[in-house]
Amino acid sequence: MKYDQIMVRYGELSTKGKNRKVFVGKLRKSVKNVLSGFDGLEIEASRDRMYVHLNGIDYKAVCEKLKKVFGIQSLSPVMKVDKDVDVMKEAALQYVNNLTREIHTFKVTTKRADKTFHMDTNEINHAIGGHILFHKDGELSVNVKNPDLNLIVEIRKEAVYLTGEVILGAGGLPLNSSGKAMLMLSGGIDSPVAGFLSMKRGIEVECIHFYSPPFTSERSKQKVLDLARVLSETSGHMVVHVVPFTDIQKQIQLQIPESYSMTTTRRLMLRIAEGITKEKNGLAIITGESLGQVASQTLYSMNAINEVTNFPIIRPLITMDKNEIIAIAQEIDTFDISSRPFEDCCTVFTPVNPKTMPRREKVNHYESFVEFDELVEQAIKNIETVHIRPGDFAGKKDIEQELF
Ligand code: ATP
Ligand code: MG
Repeated sequence: MKYDQIMVRYGELSTKGKNRKVFVGKLRKSVKNVLSGFDGLEIEASRDRMYVHLNGIDYKAVCEKLKKVFGIQSLSPVMKVDKDVDVMKEAALQYVNNLTREIHTFKVTTKRADKTFHMDTNEINHAIGGHILFHKDGELSVNVKNPDLNLIVEIRKEAVYLTGEVILGAGGLPLNSSGKAMLMLSGGIDSPVAGFLSMKRGIEVECIHFYSPPFTSERSKQKVLDLARVLSETSGHMVVHVVPFTDIQKQIQLQIPESYSMTTTRRLMLRIAEGITKEKNGLAIITGESLGQVASQTLYSMNAINEVTNFPIIRPLITMDKNEIIAIAQEIDTFDISSRPFEDCCTVFTPVNPKTMPRREKVNHYESFVEFDELVEQAIKNIETVHIRPGDFAGKKDIEQELF
């Protein structure tokens, strides 16, 4: 089939009123980025559709790229024809004749976006359907319930678009259209998934990782940078703020009763995350928490931990089961990296019996004897910021030696 364009349907952004222009602009940018490898494509963005002019380039390869772009509800390779019934009828017949797959049944579905067109939907369906039947007598019949081909005829102001394919898009909102938030990225399975889902809703994500050498190795840091690299394949670029956390963890071990050490650890992570978020003009903090998964993720724990910040905490996985999370991790290619057996700063210091129902009064009481403010400031001051792009072997040099 000789398609000349790909029609992109926006989905949710059509409901965004005044902001629509901004959203369409962001989507256009994403589309331009993913298609940068093709020479000669042209992108035309209008209020409620985007058109990628193929100029002879194979539509399948372009569709494969577009399928992954957030903010696209569906896409269709289309033939653009004049708004003339005879031309439309001929083009529809040509479309059927040129199909590479075998069909026995079809139907015509007209969408009349241009309400001024002189025929109504039924009349157009009949005119085109009748023309095809006349020329394919004995070969094709109409089946409205379950046809082999649903030929969509979309009548718009500027032209008519014909297609027999509707490809599901990735959904969500365009990249970087919802403001910035900081993802607390561990080396586990959950937080990268939380990051991906946040990006899908248009959040610009930057990562924060707490790192406790020598209790955690360079390899465990590498694991996190590798996860960030996978996330950067979606956004084009990822920033990771690596926070030195050893001194704080040592203090906690020394001064906080063991049953509350995990609660305090989380609270300090959150305080530092808030500090970084403010500094980087972020609007929220994202975590990979899932209700009831471990002691730190009961509602009681979250209540005690959340007390230290007024920033919104986004927990995309909060109601998901582990299996559901793993399925997404596999789909987005983070599962294998997350499954590498390297230690995380939390696992190293995890107490044997952490409190599953910590109380705010108690944790505040225990923390009141320790001077954490300066340590928090120090940690923020000593952050190492790493910029990662999709092609990078993140972490590079010394790790390479360690691994090979
Ligand atoms: P994950 O699989 O994401 O590590 P988890 O099930 O192991 O999660 P926890 O270890 O309790 O759960 O961590 C809960 C959340 O706290 C993580 O999803 C992550 O957002 C954050 N977190 C934990 N450890 C770190 C770390 N070292 N650096 C940054 N964030 C962390
Ligand atoms: Mg973890």
